[in-house]
Amino acid sequence: MANYPDLQLYIAGQWKGGDGQPVFNPADDSVLGTVPHATRADLDAALEAAGRGFKVWSRTSPAKRAEIILKAAQLMRERIEELATAMTLEQGKPIQQSRLEILRACEIIEWDAQEGRRIYGRIIPSEPGMRHSVLRQPIGVVAAFSPWNFPTSSPARKVGGALSAGCSIILKASEETPAGAVQLVKAFADAGLPPGVLNLVFGKPAEISEYLIPQPSVRLVTFTGSVPVGKHLTALAGMHMKPVIMELGGHSPVIVCDDVDPVASAVSSAMAKSRNAGQVCVSPTRFFVEDAIYDRFTEAMTEKAASLKVGNGLDPANQLGPLANERRLAAMETLVADARSKGARVMTGGARIGNRGNFYPLTVLADVPDDARAMREEPFGPLALLNRVRSLDEAIEKANSVPYGLAGYAFTNSAHKADQLAESIEVGNLSINHFVASSAETPFGGVKDSGFGREGGVEGLLCYTVVKNVSHMTA
Ligand code: NAD
Repeated sequence: MANYPDLQLYIAGQWKGGDGQPVFNPADDSVLGTVPHATRADLDAALEAAGRGFKVWSRTSPAKRAEIILKAAQLMRERIEELATAMTLEQGKPIQQSRLEILRACEIIEWDAQEGRRIYGRIIPSEPGMRHSVLRQPIGVVAAFSPWNFPTSSPARKVGGALSAGCSIILKASEETPAGAVQLVKAFADAGLPPGVLNLVFGKPAEISEYLIPQPSVRLVTFTGSVPVGKHLTALAGMHMKPVIMELGGHSPVIVCDDVDPVASAVSSAMAKSRNAGQVCVSPTRFFVEDAIYDRFTEAMTEKAASLKVGNGLDPANQLGPLANERRLAAMETLVADARSKGARVMTGGARIGNRGNFYPLTVLADVPDDARAMREEPFGPLALLNRVRSLDEAIEKANSVPYGLAGYAFTNSAHKADQLAESIEVGNLSINHFVASSAETPFGGVKDSGFGREGGVEGLLCYTVVKNVSHMTA
């Protein structure tokens, strides 16, 4: 298919094709290409290459490392149309959102590259003749597993962090949306990254993780995906004493206080919910709206949601693309049927559109009972669940009532309420009066079942390092 790249593995600086599985276009179910599966020999070659790559890269000066990484980001900026088109073809999101994802990936990579030059150690004052130096060293070979919802920016988080800290990496990206990772890796290869520093594999996810994680040369595991898989990989890593970075699911609460404009907050809520058709770990999902503005908010969000144009993401007029795979479509149908049977009101949406491609509209459910499955299970799709609350305390209690703790949002003009929210909401990222959960320079990650470790910011980079204290008796 024109505009869709040839999909290959990248091991020890070489591209390699092979047998594998088809990649589908979620807008029309057509086959875009075949993603090769790595054999056991390929994985062994990747491990060997990453070991050698680590020796080379960890001894490359931070300035030189930054130069190569920044060059890769520049190439991605130059190739943005090609990259964005492939992303929309394989993942479905509207083309403008694909462009923004590429730019976001570049910002992440660029920030990490520059910050990689400032991974400082410490000198600890001691008695005369003794010097304690704390070094921050790159941790080693990283095994990274990235998902299908952000085909480029999720791998970019892992590759940017690992390479900027001086590590080498074996990336197992999503088989369902592989082009995003292939094009990212190609930019690094074209930028002059030494062979072995970055390796890309695909295959059966469980087989690859179970083979790579126990390997002695692998020193860190980073995964973005669902809570059950994250717990499984954390347990496996723990058996082998490997640290992990886990970016898992979320079930983000949005608390809307009665001192804000209900229409403006509802319109921005609908737009935020529509991003990537809700297939985002930080997607706003459970809305707790104070009594005085609940009806107006519900009406305005319903109106905005119903107005969104759904269709093939390649058409720039469309605001909501197809869901990325049939599993999400089935999940929406199940969760909506369950909520409806328990008394939720379907304000708009609530049924699949057509029977070709995975199209599902932005769906607003009002008065959703606490025992509806959608209130506890991450929908990971275009469902907004609206409920009335009678006080801020009630909203906070409900917001914290699920095992997830990734992102949260609140709308208020009261400094007192904002402070109370900042203190009480159990999440890794709280955004007040806007819907941006993370940026390149801020730490992103979860609490509770949503994971641990951080991506982005200084905190994220430090996850790719180990601390060594050197005690030196100088006299
Ligand atoms: P899933 O649980 O089957 O898989 C989630 C991800 O983990 C996929 O990318 C998959 O390739 C990978 N995976 C599965 N088993 C693995 C293993 N043993 N080793 C390594 N990787 C493995 O679910 P799914 O249907 O692909 O996605 C739906 C759910 O996943 C959603 O409900 C959502 O919670 C979660 N998810 C979260 C994120 C995120 O950004 N945190 C991204 C994608 C999916």
